[in-house]
Amino acid sequence: MTTNGVSIPPERARAAQDVAAVLAPGRRVALTTHVNADGDGVGSEVALWHLLTTRGLRAAIANPTPIPERFHFLVPNGADHSERATREIESADVVVVLDISDVSRLGDLARAITHSHTVACIDHHVSGGSLPGGPRLVAPDAAATAELVFDFANALEWPLSPDAARALYVGILTDTGAFRFANTTPRALRVAGALLERGVDPESIYASVYASAPEGRVRLMTEVLETLVVEPQHGLAWVTVPPDALQRHGATADDLDGIVEYPRSIAGVRLALLFRQLANGNVKVSFRSLGDVDVAELAAGFGGGGHRKAAGASLEGTLAEVQERVLAAAREYLNGR
Ligand code: AMP
Ligand code: MN
Ligand code: MN
Repeated sequence: MTTNGVSIPPERARAAQDVAAVLAPGRRVALTTHVNADGDGVGSEVALWHLLTTRGLRAAIANPTPIPERFHFLVPNGADHSERATREIESADVVVVLDISDVSRLGDLARAITHSHTVACIDHHVSGGSLPGGPRLVAPDAAATAELVFDFANALEWPLSPDAARALYVGILTDTGAFRFANTTPRALRVAGALLERGVDPESIYASVYASAPEGRVRLMTEVLETLVVEPQHGLAWVTVPPDALQRHGATADDLDGIVEYPRSIAGVRLALLFRQLANGNVKVSFRSLGDVDVAELAAGFGGGGHRKAAGASLEGTLAEVQERVLAAAREYLNGR
């Protein structure tokens, strides 16, 4: 099947039909994504919100944490009900989980999703998934969940409005690191091309997503980069967010997006890490790699997950304890290959 010049694999087209089967007009649908939503999570939700609203469903975005300021330009007035997400999910007929397959990444909302819901999922992560049963459009070879929402719309021949196309473009743009990472497949670029043909303006999107930073974001970055440690003998480099830095700079987790690319950008580095103390006392670790280092596997060893070259985990313990454990495992892993 080919639409907009992009062919859809038959299994994705079938999965799209399965998901659509639970999305009948009149139904109440809650759209949700992982904690600290990124451009892919928000872009996918917003595009689906447009698709469903146009077809007469009652859709609401209900996320475990607020949508970052940077992506507010995508969100239609009245679409985001995240401040009462639990109630929104409890009263929904169908929950569509985007850009994750694990309930644990839904934070406080995990409890609200019960087996009395139909839970559909559209996602591109490797992890097996721990959601209650329901239709799945899951493909780890997709560059972004937004690519799968594009396939969903095309498989069903549901037209993408300019606003929906723009949201999907942001999802693909941000998850590929602005078309730089290994997931920048020919197909991802074809989908991005089809979205540009629908009228998406790449320069205004660049301005909103990458060139509208508050001053605190840049000041936070300088402080985090000061903590850089490099171990050339292992091809390892890491940075650490000073515990009170987000607060001092009026910044959010979204303001850390992209910082881990700096340790990864050093010649000879194969594995880059970012450590951050979370409000709940746990320590979040972001893993990034180059070449054949599989960070999804490394993160899974700590109860986390993600993709081969970008993964994350949340560990119990103090910052120092977690660093010691993770760095020891990282050195051992790197020495083994
Ligand atoms: P991040 O380091 O937060 O930018 O995340 C990189 C990738 O790892 C994304 O695909 C995330 O969905 C995934 N990821 C991040 N944190 C976790 C976690 N605690 N458990 C499982 N996957 C995660
Ligand atoms: Mn994501
Ligand atoms: Mn994604």
